[in-house]
Amino acid sequence: MRYQEQMELARDIVVKLRYLESMDNIIYYDRWNACPKNAFDYEGRVNAYLTELKHEKTVSPQVKELVEAFQDIEQYESDLDKGVADYLTARYTEAVQIPAGLKAELNQANAEGQLIWEKCYRENDFESFKPVLARQFNIQKRIAEAINPGEDPYQVLVNRFDKGYRLEEIDSILEEMKKSVVEILGEIREKHEKIDDSILTCDLDKETIMRLVYKAQRLLQFDEDQSTVFEMHHPVCDCVGPKDSRPSTNYSELFHAILAILHESGHGFYNYNGSDAVVEYGLWGGIEGAMHESQSRFYENHVGRSREFWKNFYPILQQEVPKYREIPLEDFLKAFNKVTPGLIRLQSDELMNTLHIIIRYELEKEYFEGKLTVDTIEESWNAKYQEYLGVTPSNSREGILQDVHWASGYIGYFQGYALGDAYASQFRHKLEEDRPDAYQCLEQGDISAINGWLKEHIHQYGQTYSAKEMLKKATGEDLRVAYYTEYLRKKFL
Ligand SMILES: [Zn+2]
Repeated sequence: MRYQEQMELARDIVVKLRYLESMDNIIYYDRWNACPKNAFDYEGRVNAYLTELKHEKTVSPQVKELVEAFQDIEQYESDLDKGVADYLTARYTEAVQIPAGLKAELNQANAEGQLIWEKCYRENDFESFKPVLARQFNIQKRIAEAINPGEDPYQVLVNRFDKGYRLEEIDSILEEMKKSVVEILGEIREKHEKIDDSILTCDLDKETIMRLVYKAQRLLQFDEDQSTVFEMHHPVCDCVGPKDSRPSTNYSELFHAILAILHESGHGFYNYNGSDAVVEYGLWGGIEGAMHESQSRFYENHVGRSREFWKNFYPILQQEVPKYREIPLEDFLKAFNKVTPGLIRLQSDELMNTLHIIIRYELEKEYFEGKLTVDTIEESWNAKYQEYLGVTPSNSREGILQDVHWASGYIGYFQGYALGDAYASQFRHKLEEDRPDAYQCLEQGDISAINGWLKEHIHQYGQTYSAKEMLKKATGEDLRVAYYTEYLRKKFL
């Protein structure tokens, strides 16, 4: 086959694999929204068959031939061609490396794990969760060994989500982030302890929260024609198709609902903002892992926790919730950005979040180094919370049972949240260099300069590049934690 034919065929296969993925995502959405309880089992089987189809298509002789041919191509005619080749190669390689039996075992363990986790979490019962944890770590280890038997398993697992990073590199990035956070915390702790954040408590009906969430999204200029919002206990963004982003939020508490919708809308922007060419090549949706988190964290923190955003949103809040008419914006912002070393990651502030992430990453790493077992991991969790944040969980719910990640097979994922924060700060720096007026515009209620910059420099490319390439292309530099530190110091000191 000639180059052109190869690329056309590859593109066609990738586009169709994405169709199957979209069906998967529609089922996911259905399960959390419309699917009746008794239909879960059947829908699960439909989903399993879809996975089978996807696997068959991915490991077909045609794909094998293409992937082999790609090895001989020295220079691609376009970045999109290379993007498609890399995409298909990665999918094919992993599909042939992981035996079908192991994959089925994984899917089952993830589904069961999540259910058992819910029960154990409700009942504050870590003891019953231990076998699940042991099973999940064990399966992940075997997956890592299947992918690359000669490599440190944790290294392999981390690279499934964040490609191109060595553990030593991540260690040093996280160490630098930790150092900045601890330093800043030391300087502001006393001051922040005195901030009264009780003004953030407000007892609102669900309709009011929903209206405010809707209005927050309108300030973001999030496109209603390419999105739909749903409710979920652990908010996610279901990226169904190139013009179809479905962020969710949890309406139980106003400010969490708003920050969550901003976060998930960030994923949503990244998903639906791919260029026409990117869609045509099947490369829409954005780079998974840290790069996707950088976009969600950007909208959550660099927009949603900014004075400029609240300058516009606060009057809307005051309209809906009368008690805020008595509270000046400055007082509100102080409370809203209060730093409190606490136990729960999902309730943590911008600064403390990094420490929560680092603890999980370190525990995973130590587990795979053989330094921890399911019998000692909780003790170690608690000790790290005491050491880094100065707090100790009084029970497992407040501690090791709080995240669903390990139960549902997300092992080797957490570092992406921290890397995402570091990326986001670097993007912010470059954005302000290119558009010094971006935040003045936001202050006047117009976010289009920020949206436009992110779309032009990141979103439009979809999955054409790796995260490292994308960062360099957008900012002209490799990752520099200094921007993260600079951002935090400016904000908190
Ligand atoms: Zn996210």
